[in-house]
Amino acid sequence: MIILSKIFCKFKVFLKKIRGKNRAVIFDRDGTLNIDYGYVGEIEKFELFPDVIPSLKKLENAGFLLIVITNQSGVGRGFFGIENVEKIHNHLKKLLLANGICLAKIYTCPHAPEERCKCRKPKTLLFEKAIKEFSLDPQKCYSIGDKETDIIPAEKLKMKGILLGRHCKNLKEAVEIILKNESE
Ligand SMILES: [Mg+2]
Ligand SMILES: [Zn+2]
Repeated sequence: MIILSKIFCKFKVFLKKIRGKNRAVIFDRDGTLNIDYGYVGEIEKFELFPDVIPSLKKLENAGFLLIVITNQSGVGRGFFGIENVEKIHNHLKKLLLANGICLAKIYTCPHAPEERCKCRKPKTLLFEKAIKEFSLDPQKCYSIGDKETDIIPAEKLKMKGILLGRHCKNLKEAVEIILKNESE
């Protein structure tokens, strides 16, 4: 069953890709979708917030592509390996898929700040990659995060940033803002 949903999900994303001018919501991971325990390197420490599933479902139904962009400097700092990150991301994708939610892609920066890479938020590289890969129209896109650094790259690229704890309380409220915006 999960294999069929996976194929269906890939097909849906593919259709959007070729259509172009896409709308997406780009999520930060830790502190936005799941509880931020500092460095989350094991599935046991990966705990979604309660409203994530219904919130993502609403966005998907409204026609948004769902994308995650995450800084995982725990890899660069040697706290855990990139394979740990991949394991968690496969777990997250499966969890969502089991609820009928299709995550288009997860982009990860595995570097420590000292490495001065081009992909670590607040740098814009991973956002630019997402725009290119999924033919996004930035002005129709939103970025939701719990830190200023999640919003800065999005706004630089003309997306709308929603900062949890400032613009609203949690993901559920962020989604309400987006859907209200869309209906106006
Ligand atoms: Mg965060
Ligand atoms: Zn990086």
